[in-house]
Amino acid sequence: MTNLKTKVIHGGIATDSTTGAVSVPIYQTSTYQQDALGQPKAYEYSRSGNPTRHALERLIADLEGGIQGFAFGSGLAGIHAVLSMFSAGDHIILADDVYGGTFRLMDKVMTKVGLTYDLIDLSDLEAFSNAFTPQTKAVYFETPSNPLLKILDIATISKIAKAHHALTLVDNTFATPYLQQPLLLGADVVLHSATKYLGGHSDVVAGLVTTHSQELAQQIGFLQNSIGAVLGPQDSWLVQRGIKTLALRMDAHSANAFKIASYLEENLAVAKVYYPGLDQHLGHAIAQKQMRDFGGMVSFELVNEAGVKRFVEKLKYFTLAESLGGVESLVEVPAIMTHASIPKEIRETIGIKDGLIRLSVGVEDIADLLEDLQQALEAVNA
Ligand SMILES: *Cc1c(COP(=O)(O)O)cnc(C)c1O
Repeated sequence: MTNLKTKVIHGGIATDSTTGAVSVPIYQTSTYQQDALGQPKAYEYSRSGNPTRHALERLIADLEGGIQGFAFGSGLAGIHAVLSMFSAGDHIILADDVYGGTFRLMDKVMTKVGLTYDLIDLSDLEAFSNAFTPQTKAVYFETPSNPLLKILDIATISKIAKAHHALTLVDNTFATPYLQQPLLLGADVVLHSATKYLGGHSDVVAGLVTTHSQELAQQIGFLQNSIGAVLGPQDSWLVQRGIKTLALRMDAHSANAFKIASYLEENLAVAKVYYPGLDQHLGHAIAQKQMRDFGGMVSFELVNEAGVKRFVEKLKYFTLAESLGGVESLVEVPAIMTHASIPKEIRETIGIKDGLIRLSVGVEDIADLLEDLQQALEAVNA
């Protein structure tokens, strides 16, 4: 089975082996009866393993080309487990525009246990190559990035990292495995906030991690069980259910987002549009090479920066909310909402202006979405 449209439905463990149930049941249990002393069955205790979670873990591994998957109580819990592979004194190269919560975890939590890091613009390969120290153990990035939709060349970055004996860790939340498979391009570990497109319905917080390295799988599995931030069976079921329609949703998100980006690009009230599907986008050629389509996220700046508040409050179908990746369209202002935890000086240097607006384009009818944007833009200029 190679086609992802089939894999999202039949991949991993898709049916229940004990009852034949077509939907893997929610095994709401903390522990499991043992046949005899010292002879546990396949599962012993639900932090270490649960059949519903296991089905989801097998599925993400299957979709990304990994050998084993790991489900966590949130995206950040997964990132924390992966970063816990490293020790005091180890150095990480962190992309300068990672998710605000990832930056905070590195800057405020991992540094307390002795990890060091540098924020680097990874589209500058010379700056990247110069950032390695003898202690560098990994490079960590997102592509497309958040909120500027910067595209990074996964194959090239992985190759450079490998030459320095460093791991490549890719947060694939924005693309999902349907649009992009970093492990197949040379990355070592793929991470997801499954809260976003994988869940897809804004009803669950979850994290997924996978790798194709036996050694890394062993380490991450040990840390998942030792730290213990595992995903519960109900939420595991919700994410697996969400993934069944991932291909349908990502096609619809991408088609709507492309039309909205093109519309905004033509609109005189809009100063700048960030969408990797546009010809003028800096990373367009790389995106074409490593992605099936360009995804559902669009960011832009208004000519009239002071109109941001009025614009986002005037929208009807784009709900003003953090998060992304659900079937419904959302709008947010990164400087005030998702990226407020990044200090203003750093935000400015990486290009996240106070007037930047980010859309998570949903799967509603495109005519309604365009009409909504139009009336809000008119209100700003009135
Ligand atoms: C949301 C998000 C995270 C964090 O995930 P949670 O599920 O909120 O913990 C990490 N990376 C990216 C790119 C995200 O969008």
